[in-house]
Amino acid sequence: MSDEERRQIRPRSMTRRYRRGLILVGVLCVVATLIAATLLFQRSYTERVDRYLQVLCTTLADSYTRSGTYDSQTLADLAADTGVRCSLIAQDGTVLYDSEHPGGLPNHADRPEVQAALAQGSGSCTRQSETMGQETHYYALGIDTPAGVQVLRVGEEVDNLWGLSADTLPLFAVALVVILLGAGLLSAVLTRLLVQPINRLAENLDTIEADVPYEELIPLARTVQTDRKLREDNETMRREFTANVSHELKTPLTSISGYAELIETGMAKSADVPAFASRIHKEAQRMIALVSDILQLSELDSTQAARGQGVPPDMVPVDLASLVKEISQTMTVNARKAYVTLQYDARPSTVKGCRDQLVELATNLCDNAIRYNRPGGHVDLRCGTGPDGCPYLEVEDNGIGIPQDSQSRVFERFYRVDKSRSKATGGTGLGLAIVKHIALLHDARIDLQSQVGTGTTIKVTFPKNS
Ligand code: ADP
Repeated sequence: MSDEERRQIRPRSMTRRYRRGLILVGVLCVVATLIAATLLFQRSYTERVDRYLQVLCTTLADSYTRSGTYDSQTLADLAADTGVRCSLIAQDGTVLYDSEHPGGLPNHADRPEVQAALAQGSGSCTRQSETMGQETHYYALGIDTPAGVQVLRVGEEVDNLWGLSADTLPLFAVALVVILLGAGLLSAVLTRLLVQPINRLAENLDTIEADVPYEELIPLARTVQTDRKLREDNETMRREFTANVSHELKTPLTSISGYAELIETGMAKSADVPAFASRIHKEAQRMIALVSDILQLSELDSTQAARGQGVPPDMVPVDLASLVKEISQTMTVNARKAYVTLQYDARPSTVKGCRDQLVELATNLCDNAIRYNRPGGHVDLRCGTGPDGCPYLEVEDNGIGIPQDSQSRVFERFYRVDKSRSKATGGTGLGLAIVKHIALLHDARIDLQSQVGTGTTIKVTFPKNS
């Protein structure tokens, strides 16, 4: 899905989703509860009916046996007040009496409860009734009479599961409406309670992390806070950078303009003109160096931003040893001019990176080591692979050194320990900032060791197998 398409799809309403979810849960709970309650009730109800039929049948059989007559009229009298269906069946299945069918019934020899009563003395059975939603429970007992065995059977019609469900349907419908109304109301209140703190959170982004109302939102709040802080820091950095650049450009421009005016108005003696022209040239050179450093930093910033968005940088294997040799050759002239000895120790090592950037990094370190040195001093340029397998590049000098409290700041843009010395030697204040940036793009670590009056060593360690 493209960004454009993603932007066009409106995000779903959290309030609506939450509300719908709550109502659905409410309805599901009611349905599940009613089904479970109906099942449980039906089971316990039929168990009770079965127990009642058994007790009733035993009592009737006792009374019937005690009467000693063993005829259907005696049973009809006994069963009259029970309210349940009573039947008397002969051993061959002939129905001698049935309280609900006085006109007679067909042979019952095939009825399971009758067969069980004849075989084991008692039997029970449940059969679907003719009426929909009902079933009939039977209990039968075998009674020994002088004329053979008779079966006394009692039966009761009860609602089955469907019958009960049909009974509870109106109740179910009413409950559903009530639950829907209740859930709708409750969900509206709950949703508001849930969403309100989130809305309030967005009103004050300054304290978002401290005010976060739900622990699930902590990662989001943290990201927002970090992002905000980063934006603010970037904005401050950008403002400071613009101010610094303007200031750095204004000084040479002012002197260029001054010298040019002196020449233009004829105020400069002709003997001074070459000296003034040379100063104009020098200031212009300084501006060119500054602008080229700024361009380089901006390019590095863009590469870094592209990398942040997942664009892989263009990395190739770079032979550090040949790079070190090349730099020491190009820097020899500068070193000689400063009466500094430049030596190198290039051991085999390769890093994956951008060669131009690595040349810039080594040049800047070497240039600083020469410029912040003393006549007769020396600079050692080294590269190799450490015992941990990590390639490194190291520049050591025995120059003026960097004070302890400035060591953490020299990598900042435009930070200089000694401004006049930096400017006098053609420094822009951006050299180490560029070094830091390039190291970052190569995932390299920078270690600085320095002591005022003794010298400085800067070591750049690249990741293993990089
Ligand atoms: P500049 O263009 O001023 O040299 P850099 O960013 O390269 O800017 O360095 C920042 C500051 O760090 C310099 O102004 C200098 O004061 C100090 N510095 C850098 N390298 C050395 C070094 N090898 N020895 C002493 N001081 C150094």
